[in-house]
Amino acid sequence: MIPEPLVAIVYLISAALFILGLKRLSSPASARVGNILSGSGMLLAILVTLFDRAIVSYGVIAAGIIVGGGIGLWMARAVQMTSMPQMIALLNGFGGAASLTVGGAELLRAEVVGEVLAVGASTTIQLAVVIGAVTFTGSLVAFAKLQELMTGRPILFPGQKVFNGALFAAIIALALYQVASPEPLLWPFYAVVILSLLIGVMLVIPIGGADMPVVISLLNSYSGLAAAMTGFVIGNHVLIIAGALVGSSGLILSQIMCRAMNRSLTNVLFGAFGTAASVAARSSEGLTAKQLSAEDASIQLAYARLVVVIPGYGLAVAQAQHQVRELAELIEKQGGEVRYAIHPVAGRMPGHMNVLLSEANIPYDKLITDVDEANSILPRADIAIVVGANDIVNPAALEDPGSPIYGMPIIRADTAQRAIVMKRSMASGFAGIENDLFYRDNTYMLFGDAKQTLNGLVTEIKQEIGAGV
Ligand code: NDP
Repeated sequence: MIPEPLVAIVYLISAALFILGLKRLSSPASARVGNILSGSGMLLAILVTLFDRAIVSYGVIAAGIIVGGGIGLWMARAVQMTSMPQMIALLNGFGGAASLTVGGAELLRAEVVGEVLAVGASTTIQLAVVIGAVTFTGSLVAFAKLQELMTGRPILFPGQKVFNGALFAAIIALALYQVASPEPLLWPFYAVVILSLLIGVMLVIPIGGADMPVVISLLNSYSGLAAAMTGFVIGNHVLIIAGALVGSSGLILSQIMCRAMNRSLTNVLFGAFGTAASVAARSSEGLTAKQLSAEDASIQLAYARLVVVIPGYGLAVAQAQHQVRELAELIEKQGGEVRYAIHPVAGRMPGHMNVLLSEANIPYDKLITDVDEANSILPRADIAIVVGANDIVNPAALEDPGSPIYGMPIIRADTAQRAIVMKRSMASGFAGIENDLFYRDNTYMLFGDAKQTLNGLVTEIKQEIGAGV
């Protein structure tokens, strides 16, 4: 056993490392160091806990680390960048399940040894169990939706809110009954677990479409809260701190994403995004989109003074980040300036585009991550190149009050002198709605896989420059 004050000091150092790491995660330039700092804090916390606690069997723990760590390593290596939200959903779910089992085990232990639980202990057990169970099944549903194992659209039925309200009331009543009872009771405990697992499913099925990322972030926050409650249950300070940090940062991220989509959290949770899409989608009948040849596009780009690249999910699918950098370097060589306008919900996870562009060594100072700032320079841009983006440049968000994305701030590709849109077809994006931008007078479509299209442009521009046109 390690002396108590030493454990407290190491936990304090771990907590400080978590906070310093989190702070550095707020900028792409310092994110790597941030990750290392937080990871070191976690390593310290795990080591001291392993030596401090009365461990029953190091063998079982080692087996868990080998099997769990092996699966985790395989998942992290195998997962496509575009499938990260599903993986995060699963990991959140496992966090919730851990809190549920630890809280439950503590209650069962007390029941077996006939211990009378204090009100505080009993309350934190109930909270760990309820939040853990909700996070577990809610995350599994979110995973199934994003992995397309079930419909991604909201699932609604008559009386849904009343049913959910009744479930919620029953959980609170049963949990209070347990807290008020002097001895641990098994039947209300199992009832709370089952009802909480059910409400986790019920809370996520009515959510769909572009609201899913907010839900993932919110579930992440729940998993942190559940972990903090578990920290209280087993009296572990670093778990309380780490859980509180995850809980609060998940909530802050949810709010940032809600702001980026101009929606309130209540609206996301109860607004059933996507149900009005078929009604609100503008019809494109009678409209034709203009196409541009790679040759024409390359001439325009080679002589542009200011080009703004607007990357979206298609850039990630095509893995075209290196080609974007090559194109930008050619434009810059010709004396033009290239900036990158990054929408907070571009791609399929927060920071998705930043990660891709930084992988291609695109300098951070060329990225504009503030939508208003991007929109203030776009009218001066000769060309806005939309690479595999759709919803985040859809003017319906500003102009069509019936659109499901109405009110979401967008990057105004439509205000540039000319917009060149690279995608494979006229298909819609994540929100499943049509995009009027494609039919605007100053918009030109460049169809094809983004990587191949950009490769073609790079070759054409090299020829232009070589020929001295
Ligand atoms: P969208 O999903 O709206 O559009 C992506 C476009 O990329 C599609 O229309 C598709 O058109 C095109 N595309 C796909 N593959 C390729 C390819 N290989 N080459 C070229 N184009 C391709 O993406 P946005 O980034 O504009 O918007 C993100 C959406 O995702 C928002 O609705 C957001 O709310 C949601 N979301 C965001 C998350 C986040 O945290 N960032 C997480 C989950 C969802 P085509 O098939 O014709 O090629």
